[in-house]
Amino acid sequence: MKKDDILQLTIEDISSEGIGIGRADGTVLFVKDTITGDTVEAKIMKMKKTYGYARLMRIITPSPWRVQPVCPVARKCGGCQIQEMDYQAQLRFKEQKVRSNLERIGKFTEIPMEPIIGMDQPLYYRNKAQFPIGTDKNGHVIAGFYAGRTHTIIENRKCYLGTAVNEQVLNEVIAYMEEEHIPAYDEESGSGIVRHVLIRCGFRTKEVMVCLIANRSSLPKEDKLVRRLQKIPGMTSISLNINRERTNVILGKELRLLWGRPYIEDYIGSVKYQVSPLSFFQVNPVQTEKLYDLALEYAGLTGSETVWDLYCGIGTISLYLAQKAKKVYGVEIVPQAIDDACRNAKINNITNAQFYVGKAEEILPEIYRRHHIRANVIVVDPPRKGCDNKLLDTIIQMQPEKVVYVSCDSATLARDLRILCDHGYELKRCRAVDQFPMSVHVETCVLLVREKVNRPVA
Ligand code: SAH
Repeated sequence: MKKDDILQLTIEDISSEGIGIGRADGTVLFVKDTITGDTVEAKIMKMKKTYGYARLMRIITPSPWRVQPVCPVARKCGGCQIQEMDYQAQLRFKEQKVRSNLERIGKFTEIPMEPIIGMDQPLYYRNKAQFPIGTDKNGHVIAGFYAGRTHTIIENRKCYLGTAVNEQVLNEVIAYMEEEHIPAYDEESGSGIVRHVLIRCGFRTKEVMVCLIANRSSLPKEDKLVRRLQKIPGMTSISLNINRERTNVILGKELRLLWGRPYIEDYIGSVKYQVSPLSFFQVNPVQTEKLYDLALEYAGLTGSETVWDLYCGIGTISLYLAQKAKKVYGVEIVPQAIDDACRNAKINNITNAQFYVGKAEEILPEIYRRHHIRANVIVVDPPRKGCDNKLLDTIIQMQPEKVVYVSCDSATLARDLRILCDHGYELKRCRAVDQFPMSVHVETCVLLVREKVNRPVA
C-alpha cells in the first residue's frame, strides 16, 4: 500500500480526534470526514509503518447513522467533529468509548454503567465563543473558526453550537471595523489590529459580554463600537483585551472596560457566578448542571460531611457541594480561579467553603500530614492527564468513605480508578454526560466506595 493508492474500505470506529478508522488488507487507515458504518473510497495521503492516512473521495454506502449536518461548513470547520452522525448514535458512541476504556485500560469487568445523559436539543448549547478575525482575499474583514489543525479562518458568523447573539455581535463589530478602516490582525506578519472577538452569554440571566482582543491599548473611535453594541438586547459588558504577543494564545493579560460592568452573571443550579472575560466558566451550562447534580447525588451528602474538591477551578463543584455539606475545601493551581471561587462564595453567602491555591498533589498530602484532617468525600475533576500518583496515594491513606471522580478523559480515568480499586475502593456507579454534542468529547462521573474490610494500605 502506498501514497496515492485508491481503495475501498468500511469505517469501523472513530478515533479520539473524531477521525474515521477502517482497515484495508489488515492495515489501519484514518479517514477524515467519515463515521462508523460508512463504506467509502479513499486515497492514501501518507503511509507510516503500521497505519496510514487517507482522504475521503466518495461515500459508496453511507452509514445508517449518517445525517445531513445542519451547518453548511461543518466539514471544513474544525469546531465540530461528528455533526454527520445522528445524535443518538453520537451518544451511543460516547458511552461505548467510556465503557471500553474502563474495560481495556481499567480492567474492570462488571461496570455499573447508567445510561448516558444527553441533551434534548444538542445545538445552541455554548455560552462562549471566540471568533478569530481575519481578512479575505478581497480585503474584507471576516470572522469564523479555524479549519481543523490549521489557522485558516473558515468564514462563518452563525455557529450552530453558539447562541444567536453571536452573529449580531459580529455584524456590529465588522461593520465598525470596515467603517473606521480598522484592519484585522494578521498572524503571519503580526500587522493589523483586531485579533479575536470573545462573546459570552448568561443563559439564565440573558446578559451578554463582548471582549475585543487587539494588539494595542486602544481602538480608533471606541465610542462608535460601544454605541453599536449597546443596542443589542442584554448587552452588559464591553471590554478590550490587549495581546501584543506573537502567539496563538488568544487572550492577553491586560483588560480595559469600555462600557458596562466588568463581568456578567449566570447560574448553575441555584449558585450564582460572576464571569469576566478572563475567567474560566463551563461552556455548556445546561449539561454542567446535570453533571454537578450527578456528582452531588453520588456524594450522597447529609450535611455533616467534610468534603475536598480537588482541581476545583472557580469552585463550581465546591459551591454546589457546600450547600449540602458541613465543610468543603477546594484546591486549584490557578490563583485567579481561586479569586473567582472566593468571590463567588461570598456573593452566594456560602461560608463553609475554603480554598487553597496550589497543586492538589502537594496541598492535600501536606495538610493531611500536618493537621490530619479527615475527609468523608473527596471529589476530583482533573484535566485530561488525570490525577497525579502522589495525590492518589494520599487519597488511599486518607480513606474517605467515598471518592467522586469527574473526568473529561476516560482513558486516564480508567487508569486512576484501577489504582484506587486495587487499594480498597469499589466502583459503585458510573455515568457519562454529554457536555459537548457534535464533538468526540465526553465527561464521566464515577462513584467509588471504600470497601468495608480494610485492606492493607500498600
Ligand atoms: N472543577 C472545575 C474545573 C475542572 S478543570 C469546574 O468544574 O469548573 C481542571 C482544573 O484543574 C483546572 O482549573 C486546572 O487549572 C486545574 N489544575 C490543573 N493541574 C492542577 C494541579 N496539579 N493541582 C490543582 N489544580 C490543577
